[in-house]
Amino acid sequence: MPTKKHLHIDELTCPHCAENIIENLESLDFIEEVNINYDTKDIIIVSKDELDDNQTKMVLEACLLNGHCVNHSFNHLQDIITEEYHFEDIDCANCAAKVERALNKDEDILNAKVNFINKKIIITHMNNVEVYDVVSKIVGRVENGATISKMDDDYEHEHHHHEHHHHHHDDFECECGHNHEEVSFFKDKHLRNIFRYALLIIGFVCFVTAHALEQFEVANTDILVLVLFLVGYIAIGYEIVIKSVLSIIHGDIFNENTLMLIASIGALCVKEFFEGTMVILLYKIGEFFQDRATENSKNAIKELMELKVDTVTLTNGMIKNVKEVNVGEIISVKVGERIPLDGIVKKGDTSIDMKTLTGESMPTYINEGEEILSGSINLSKVIEVEVTKQDKDSTLSKVRKLVDEATNQKSKTEQFITKFARIYTPVILLIAIAVFLIQFLIIKEPIVDTLNNVFTILVISCPCALVISIPLAYFAGIGSCSANGVLVKGGNYLDALTKAKYFVFDKTGTITKGNFKVSDVVTTSNLTKEEMIEIVAKAEQYSLHPIAKSIEDCYGKKVENKDEMIAEEYSGAGVKVKIDEKIVLVGNDNLMNQFNIKYEPSKAIGTILYLAVEDKYCGYIVISDEVKKEAKDTIDYLNASNIITVMLTGDREEVAKDVASRVGFREYKSKLLPEQKYNLLKEYLDKNDGKVVYIGDGINDAPSLTLADVGIAMGGIGSDSAKECSDIVIMNDDLTKIKTSMDIAKYTKKIIIENIAFILLIKIAALVVGAIPKLSLGSFGMIFAIFADVGVCLLSILNVLRILRFRHKE
Ligand code: ADP
Ligand code: MG
Repeated sequence: MPTKKHLHIDELTCPHCAENIIENLESLDFIEEVNINYDTKDIIIVSKDELDDNQTKMVLEACLLNGHCVNHSFNHLQDIITEEYHFEDIDCANCAAKVERALNKDEDILNAKVNFINKKIIITHMNNVEVYDVVSKIVGRVENGATISKMDDDYEHEHHHHEHHHHHHDDFECECGHNHEEVSFFKDKHLRNIFRYALLIIGFVCFVTAHALEQFEVANTDILVLVLFLVGYIAIGYEIVIKSVLSIIHGDIFNENTLMLIASIGALCVKEFFEGTMVILLYKIGEFFQDRATENSKNAIKELMELKVDTVTLTNGMIKNVKEVNVGEIISVKVGERIPLDGIVKKGDTSIDMKTLTGESMPTYINEGEEILSGSINLSKVIEVEVTKQDKDSTLSKVRKLVDEATNQKSKTEQFITKFARIYTPVILLIAIAVFLIQFLIIKEPIVDTLNNVFTILVISCPCALVISIPLAYFAGIGSCSANGVLVKGGNYLDALTKAKYFVFDKTGTITKGNFKVSDVVTTSNLTKEEMIEIVAKAEQYSLHPIAKSIEDCYGKKVENKDEMIAEEYSGAGVKVKIDEKIVLVGNDNLMNQFNIKYEPSKAIGTILYLAVEDKYCGYIVISDEVKKEAKDTIDYLNASNIITVMLTGDREEVAKDVASRVGFREYKSKLLPEQKYNLLKEYLDKNDGKVVYIGDGINDAPSLTLADVGIAMGGIGSDSAKECSDIVIMNDDLTKIKTSMDIAKYTKKIIIENIAFILLIKIAALVVGAIPKLSLGSFGMIFAIFADVGVCLLSILNVLRILRFRHKE
């Protein structure tokens, strides 16, 4: 018997996700029909029979299987919830991938994402199961002894994290999923690091002295040389020894530490003290720098996006957590501090730096009584600000949330690398076995030499360099954009930008400033021009369209009788409003035709707003907009890059033609309703040659923003809907940022390709060296392999850092 099931998704704000969900649901054979209702955020599923438990689970999973929404909370008859855990102990992407796979295999977990960059685990599960213990257990098992902590939101996790810091095994050297148990006695990270540095230096000195004594054949120092080598060996390699023992206990034999240990002990056994110690020393130093580099680069990138404010000072001197500040309270912001909450300046005027919000480095001057946005930095004077928004609604929080989620979306390249990493290690192991068999059994090399070669190969069995440097490169690309006032919500969009073939622009608010000026008022009835403006201003008061704002400015007064109206907006056409019991229509010819109003089409230059009261045409207002000054250069740049530039507008043909030719668009279409824009966009997408980018101001084109491969919204600092639906937000509406983002995207891609090529090349070279006995004489093979492992990783991380230094050439 067919049954209907209803599924409510509280955060179904993005049509793109919805489309994915529908697609997923329709692919399930027990589902007959899927309907989606954006207004109520409900999905109705019609199935052949009552769903059993397993099918219910499949349905729920189908609703999660998309990049966009996994973070959102899903509500269902049986509620599903998303929880985030802090995972301090994770540093390497390969480990993150392993944990993620293990978590996703668990029955109770519908979806798990592990992000090694912001050290988070995001779990979606049914409400009726408690997963903390499960997650904790799996994490502990996969990453020996690693721990997680719950986090409810940004701030709490920060605090939480500090309080519990000493509980964490934050000494992870998670290179390739080896043992991560605490190997030091020091609980304090700082002390521990000093201790490690000291040992490394002692070891190094011993090693160099021993080697010198040996080289210069100083008499009677044989014993001393031996002792020095051994002390050096232990000082440098003690961690490796402990880790190897632990991993052997855990049944994990083929990992770098164990290999390194066996190789070096092997060398010591045949009295090659120099080589035995050298192997360990090189490996240790490489690993050491690699860790530093990973950590430093992550911090450097995070700094670019760092937008944290914890506490605020009220004017009465009280210090409060930002989250506890209410609307109406007055806070004081010192010079050099970040504005913690949106508000109005009550006292003092100052200049502020809005770089983090807009990428604009010139200071902006703010007077008393003006609005100030959180995230900007107070530059010149102490000010008092009356808070107008709580932390969760403030600009800063919203921007931070976007930035924070950016790293959760994996690009195709990253996904590929993760898959590649899975097969890479077993393949290398097989090669090592083959080399062993051939060299030992067929060529009959001595066992010591054979093992030396095999170890050489095994040392490169970790795909670390790839799995660390590639996500890091995307992260750096996103960070670099962020420093330029462009928020990119995932590495995949950077990729897509580099493959863009079509750039489709909205006109009003995107190509033009959306800052209309009234240039003419023509009345054809007994209304005066002033009365006409007043009626239009009243009619437009609820609209968010740039036209409405401009009319309000022109009217110049506060609109009265706000509550007696019923307003309806016709997207791309105009508004219908009931004022004083009279029906007022304000809009373009589309709207007039729709209501069968007899009107006289005007030939004036500009956008025309026709006015009709009670079905009677009363006249029109001509308004005109200004083209953004950077529009032409941007379109020229895109045209020159072999990209097809298109402008779509709901405005009149005359206006569209004028703007398109002045700016230099290859194609344009006018008189479009939002649905028509959407359908045209679909046609470009259906051509399937290259990615389609849609750029809009977000007002009435949210569906197009989400439909396109990449949706770029003019952030216009403050407007939310656009930011939510889009993939990239240009914070200050400056079109030159399109070029900046494209350049950063291309540069990021270039670095990634360089890294992949370099890493694979060196690894293959190491393989060849290991496979050919003549090439890996002495410790050369091993040293080369160590370079191919940690050295290459280090170099690729340094290469990634170039992305951060990327400056837009003016
Ligand atoms: P664009 O595609 O250029 O961004 P829109 O689709 O937002 O333009 O709007 C197209 C046309 O619809 C406008 O040029 C205007 O004539 C009319 N229109 C849209 N919204 C309104 C409004 N609130 N009041 C009056 N006219 C409107
Ligand atoms: Mg528009």
